[in-house]
Amino acid sequence: MKKITFSICLLLTVLSCKQGTPDKNLSTDTTKPRDYAANLDTGKGVINNTNSPHVKLKSIDIGDCRWTEGFWADKWKVAEETMIPHMGEILKGDIGHGYNNFKIAAGLKEGEHKGFWWHDGDFYKWMEAKMYIYGVNKDEKIVEEIDEIIDVIAQAQQADGYLSTPAIIRDDIDPFTNRRYHELYNSGHLLTSACIHYRLTGKTNFLDIAVKHADYLYKLFSPKPDHLKRFGFNQTQIMGLVELYRTTKDKRYLELAEQFINMRGTYKIEDDETTKGYPIGDMVQERVPLREETEAVGHAVLALYFYAGAADVYAETGEKELIDALERLWDNVTNKKMYITGAIGQTHYGRSSRLDKIEEGFIDEYMMPNMTAYNETCANICNSMFNYRMLTLTGDAKHGDVMELVLHNSGLSGISLDGKNYYYSNPLRKIEGALDYEKMNVEFPERQPYLKCFCCPPNLVRTIAKSPGWAYSKSENGIAVNLYGGNELNTTLLDGSAIKLTQKTDYPWDGAVKITVNESKADAFDILLRIPSWAKGTQIYVNGTKAAEAVPGTFAKIERKWAAGDEITIDMPMETKFIEGHPRIEEVRNQVAIKRGPVVYCIESADLPEKTDITNVYLSSAKKLSPTSRPDFLGGVTTLEGEVLIRKDKLGEMYQEVSAPEFQSFKTNFIPYYAWSNRGQGEMTVFLPVIWN
Ligand SMILES: [Zn+2]
Repeated sequence: MKKITFSICLLLTVLSCKQGTPDKNLSTDTTKPRDYAANLDTGKGVINNTNSPHVKLKSIDIGDCRWTEGFWADKWKVAEETMIPHMGEILKGDIGHGYNNFKIAAGLKEGEHKGFWWHDGDFYKWMEAKMYIYGVNKDEKIVEEIDEIIDVIAQAQQADGYLSTPAIIRDDIDPFTNRRYHELYNSGHLLTSACIHYRLTGKTNFLDIAVKHADYLYKLFSPKPDHLKRFGFNQTQIMGLVELYRTTKDKRYLELAEQFINMRGTYKIEDDETTKGYPIGDMVQERVPLREETEAVGHAVLALYFYAGAADVYAETGEKELIDALERLWDNVTNKKMYITGAIGQTHYGRSSRLDKIEEGFIDEYMMPNMTAYNETCANICNSMFNYRMLTLTGDAKHGDVMELVLHNSGLSGISLDGKNYYYSNPLRKIEGALDYEKMNVEFPERQPYLKCFCCPPNLVRTIAKSPGWAYSKSENGIAVNLYGGNELNTTLLDGSAIKLTQKTDYPWDGAVKITVNESKADAFDILLRIPSWAKGTQIYVNGTKAAEAVPGTFAKIERKWAAGDEITIDMPMETKFIEGHPRIEEVRNQVAIKRGPVVYCIESADLPEKTDITNVYLSSAKKLSPTSRPDFLGGVTTLEGEVLIRKDKLGEMYQEVSAPEFQSFKTNFIPYYAWSNRGQGEMTVFLPVIWN
């Protein structure tokens, strides 16, 4: 809150103000928002694409699907009971200071702004996560808690609609003077969180704040003032604006969302006062306009939020050039820059192919270091968010495959099994002593109870919380099964007819899935089943009779008249497979990773003789790995049991003459990658050298 220096500050601000730059607004808002409530949409999806003309697979409502048993039910329960309440204690307390910032900005508390510029956005993500939980469990205490917070946020909002606590609290910065203040990132999460709150409660107290803020952004950005065109760089505001457009049907928000795409790459790339302190060019995807771009470049989170936002815009506009660019960039990410775990962002520091400095992002194609892989949890989650959107736009199952890959591997690895500790970076190998963690800011030897940069934890937790909303989509005349896991679905098809399904499975540990139709319309409709690209040899039966061709990497379509009691059986062979990389990936030459179904495995120190150097662990193609169900180990997993070879003639020199190495056989087990580092510090690797017998 501003204090006695108010009038002097205001005067100086006004004097130093450029044309189009907002004045620092120093009074909180007491005015009523404009009347927008008459035209609100009733769609309740995670993304509300009910009326989006260029979407093939439409959202089910949040709460229509709930996980009932097995893998995702277990993870969701940890989110409901531990992850989200525990995170709330952190963010509402003095360690996280997220809520404090809003209270201070609202004049309800004395103190300073703490946390990074984007801390508000991360707080909104936690609020959003809480609402997804409410959407399923309907615990009114959640709404009461969130309403109390909304009341404080409303008081923090400025009279003109501005809302980003650093500039409200601090005397030394003014709104929209430097893009590194991440104001539009905070905006994006505010808009999204408010839309979700409205969808689940029908209340407009949060939406009022969002509408007022979006009106402010429209007024500020729609004239395209020169000094503001580079601001939208960590672009969650595009997704937020499209979602607000879908909620309020106010076309100006869609227009502004599209404008943020159109502005990128339309100016000379050089440092100016709005970019000071943060890398420019490819780092923030501003060197080449999106529609002309051929390569995924720059900060991986920034890139994928941008693509996800552009996918939302395409859903409304259907512009071919935009979807062509997104397909091209998807291909570049997935087939040239993505890890086997679905993770993205190969490096902490590097350069783009056009020689711009890059942090936390993409480097050259096929350049895939394991130990120093950055793979920010947010980037991996963004990859699944982008793919979820592409799935809805194209109906192409390949996007469901990437969602599934991230969810089961590089997403979940960001949080400990007890739901209280977090990784920011998700490398594929760890070697004790190889990295000096003292010099690093977001790489850690083990998961941490708090991350000063807190973007990843709430991003992951909201993803687990909303995962039931991703599990199914509505097709033109039917329902698509995107994700497998024990659940119940109670929704309507696009024609309004009721459909109820039960899914029973021990996926991803077992490939058998049973889907029972409990209620449906009498007329024929489709049930679409995503057959993962790894699931070769899948069989599909309806009531015991072979029903459809299962082509891996596509949706299998069963079109028929369904009746209550009909049972679909999907049998996906869960084989343990060695996976090798493209020959251009030098970092994994003569090595393989182990994958079973969608789950990538690793080996870590806890399962090896003491002091074993992880780089001395080899696989032998002659030694079979046997899946073993262990319900009481690491939160319930299937391990792969078998023998590895441990090399004894250790290589210590930079280069050394080698003849036949000496190996010792050791009986051990491989664990799912996401579950590593839950048994103390140690070494770990996903890729291992293999001896072919
Ligand atoms: Zn993050």
